[in-house]
Amino acid sequence: MSTSNYFRNASIVALTLAGASLLASCNGPPGPKPPPKPEDETAAKAFVAEVNKDLVGLAREGNAAGWTQQTYITADTQYLNAMVTEKYLEYFSRKAGEAKAWDKAQLDPSTARSLMLLKLGVSAPAPADAAKRTELAGLSTELDAMYGEGKYCPPGTNKDGKKTDCKIYDELADTIATSRNYQDLTDAWVGWHTISKPMRPKYQRFVELANEGARELGYDDLGVLWRSRYDMPAKDFEKEAARLYSQVEPLYKDLHCYARKRLQQRYGKDKVADGKPIPAQLLGNMWAQQWNRIYDDLLKPYPAASIESADRLLQKNKWDAVKMTKSAESFYTSIGFPALPQTFWDRSMLTRPRDREVVCHASAWDMDDKDDVRIKMCIKPVEEDLFTVYHELGHVYYYIWYKDQPMLFQDGAHDGFHEAIGDAINLSVTPAYLRKIGLVGDVVPSKEAVINQQMKMALDKIAFLPFGKLIDEWRWGVFDGRIKPSDYNKAWWELREKYQGVSAPVARTEEDFDPGAKYHIPGNTPYTRYFLSFILQFQFHKALCDASGFKGPLNECSIFGSTEAGKKYGAMLAQGSSKPWPETLYELTGTREMDASAIIDYFRPLEGWLKEQNKGQSCGWD
Ligand SMILES: [Zn+2]
Repeated sequence: MSTSNYFRNASIVALTLAGASLLASCNGPPGPKPPPKPEDETAAKAFVAEVNKDLVGLAREGNAAGWTQQTYITADTQYLNAMVTEKYLEYFSRKAGEAKAWDKAQLDPSTARSLMLLKLGVSAPAPADAAKRTELAGLSTELDAMYGEGKYCPPGTNKDGKKTDCKIYDELADTIATSRNYQDLTDAWVGWHTISKPMRPKYQRFVELANEGARELGYDDLGVLWRSRYDMPAKDFEKEAARLYSQVEPLYKDLHCYARKRLQQRYGKDKVADGKPIPAQLLGNMWAQQWNRIYDDLLKPYPAASIESADRLLQKNKWDAVKMTKSAESFYTSIGFPALPQTFWDRSMLTRPRDREVVCHASAWDMDDKDDVRIKMCIKPVEEDLFTVYHELGHVYYYIWYKDQPMLFQDGAHDGFHEAIGDAINLSVTPAYLRKIGLVGDVVPSKEAVINQQMKMALDKIAFLPFGKLIDEWRWGVFDGRIKPSDYNKAWWELREKYQGVSAPVARTEEDFDPGAKYHIPGNTPYTRYFLSFILQFQFHKALCDASGFKGPLNECSIFGSTEAGKKYGAMLAQGSSKPWPETLYELTGTREMDASAIIDYFRPLEGWLKEQNKGQSCGWD
């Protein structure tokens, strides 16, 4: 999952600001409205204007330091970046606190929204008490580092008394992806999950302090603050997420049923039992969150049929990084979006430099509040990277469309929007489109090849949904006390069984802290955004296809060349986070509700095929 800009990546504060009518939810039941206080409004407007102005400079500085650090890793660039990040965090926390002065004032919608976004911009607001603030910052850094430096060292030491054969995440993840030996998979899984045991007391304390910070800002707990970003009372958002999940659950269960059968054939019924959850180490991913790594040899429906990937012609026709990026740009300009500015081409990093260390993980950057947008990637001529470039340009065009908004509104309508923009465009990168631009041959895919293609995508897009849902459900419980520290691990596995239908590879106890083995827990990054993004991207795709006049199966639609679709997309993107997201969503879709029916629609061919395959089996688990 590629990230977007420097501040969005900072673990404590993100400029990911969205939310709305939460003031009603934290100030108790609405009483009679006090009369407007014009003097409050003038002061509030001046305060917001000042913050917007300060943020221009702070963001420019932060992005310069961040970009330099990621494209030229040295002790010095890391130092400079850390200094600027700290300065930014301090500013943001201070201003969020000051914004409370207008909690009870009657303000115009734009000013009220600006103040609210300012308060909600902090993923873990610090308590006012200086000692506690320092403690919280220390815990955040420590937890992050414990994850980053996590290694599995098998028992035993060499003759110098040092641990031997320690394995980092990449090696263990590679085993999970490629090994088909039950014991090796179990060992790799158990190994990685040793890194998080020592996080437990630190995480428990982190929760206490971050909750205290959230309460000082006027929210019941940190989970309420996170959910308040969605322009509805926190309680309602929980119901909303549950409603969306219930729409996709039947399709997930069909996929699970099929996968379990195939895994039974590979590992035997004693390991993968009928009617039971699947052992979590068998699905090709450390968290069983996406299953595409076991597609080729275990889950491919028709081993002999394939849709040609673009890999062969990308290499044969010598497409380089610039040509691949131009191809992505030409998709966006075909729907009427502007050409990328010359500075994008001058300043982006498209390939791995030979002379220095860089962070190759793909990201898109909004350097200033004008035209300086960039991407940073190490592009290779393979189809996967082609899709990533199209995805990153989704972020870039969002920046371009909302650049005239004040800084506090230069963001996604809610945090699920940003990731969904380029992904929706990728749904238009169909085999027919790739044929059109000369990246696959002239063969019309067979019915079997279409099912294969849908399966491959479903292992990415459908398999992810329960995981995307449960991570924050666990944290909401932890933050509001429904889940006690003494039950952290038990509750985690209850949710993983309930949603994903996977079970722990070996017996677990409260000595373990398995949530900590997923980056976003020690990194304190909210996760519901990914769940929402996976649903929204299909909803966007459907709306764009409708606008383009397309008739036919949704999985065959490409909006390439449709300026009608582009006009509606641009109108939505230009809103940034200036309005409650239902209003923004309405611009494109004509509805104010998120809806998972498009993702189901898209996978209609696969859904029918799975039903056939699963006939006579008892699906589900207990
Ligand atoms: Zn991204």
